Amino acid sequence: MAGASVKVAVRVRPFNARETSRQAKCVIQMQGNTTCITNPKLAKDATKHFTFDYSYWSHTSVKDPHFASQRRVYQDIGEEMLLHAFEGYNVCVLAYGQTGAGKSYTMMGRQEAGQQGIIPQLCEDLFTRVSREGSPDLTFSVEVSYMEIYCERVRDLLNPKSRGGLRVREHPLMGPYVQDLSRLAVTSFEDIADLMDSGNKARTVAATNMNETSSRSHAVFTIVFSQRRHDRLTDLHTEKVSRISLVDLAGSERADASGAKGMRLKEGANINKSLTTLGKVISALAEAVSLGGVSPPTFGTSGPDPSPPSYADRTKQIRCHAVINEDPNARLIRELRQEVTRL
Ligand code: ADP
Repeated sequence: MAGASVKVAVRVRPFNARETSRQAKCVIQMQGNTTCITNPKLAKDATKHFTFDYSYWSHTSVKDPHFASQRRVYQDIGEEMLLHAFEGYNVCVLAYGQTGAGKSYTMMGRQEAGQQGIIPQLCEDLFTRVSREGSPDLTFSVEVSYMEIYCERVRDLLNPKSRGGLRVREHPLMGPYVQDLSRLAVTSFEDIADLMDSGNKARTVAATNMNETSSRSHAVFTIVFSQRRHDRLTDLHTEKVSRISLVDLAGSERADASGAKGMRLKEGANINKSLTTLGKVISALAEAVSLGGVSPPTFGTSGPDPSPPSYADRTKQIRCHAVINEDPNARLIRELRQEVTRL
């Protein structure tokens, strides 16, 4: 759906060695954007049909229209996200599925040429565009944070001293944020790759101590991308900020807490709760769009204060996270004024 706020792609990975050695049979077919699953033990008409924005296949050749290389997945999903981030929208790509389903392969991929996932390709394109478009009157800054959510506790993966338990708070205009989460400035994809690497190591250390925690925790990598523009005619400085959130969710099989006890039951219940809440958020976003959509954000200006935003406008600002004033004091005063007017 062109212009939709939420797009869903399903990607089927090739059989792994174990499945091949057991001569596993593929029970999936693709027709256009529809993925069909047939249980061989049931009658043919028991086939279930699911329609997505994209249905990707891995078993066939490049000539198959469903065959998706890493490049194609990025072109379909990542490129559009980056475009919206430059427009000032907050964007998010999240990978959902069982452990071993191919989430990390799709998001990160492998080092070899042509095997890189959405994240490295998106970061490379981001910095290419930044160096192409940057000028004395248009400057960019990129900061990143990386956190892990395990059993409702947030841990900073870029701060080795972080023990978890950071607080999630909500700013009236900027929306939700994690207090004291490190935000580090980066100037190249190599910087980002290094930070991701050390964050992943922090995750792995915890995983060996806690029996593969990584598949039972959500990892959220956020790129905060700011564009500052100077208008020479009016001498105004304006800023547009967007967030690119790249999320590797806990293995969805962990949400099934049946038969689990003690810590496993608690983990399963927490994952179930967060995945259910995520489902509600996605439905609400899809519904908001069908009710009229979200208009693109603009650079904030130092013109007269706008009238206080309605709740809908506020939601729009939070989702777009884009209208920021030119100097911190002016911004603070404006926020205070808006709060007072609202009261
Ligand atoms: P997850 O992150 O969901 O636990 P992984 O991304 O680690 O799963 O994938 C499991 C294995 O399958 C890895 O060895 C990965 O390289 C391979 N794999 C996953 N998806 C694909 C794909 N589309 N094409 C080729 N190999 C894949």
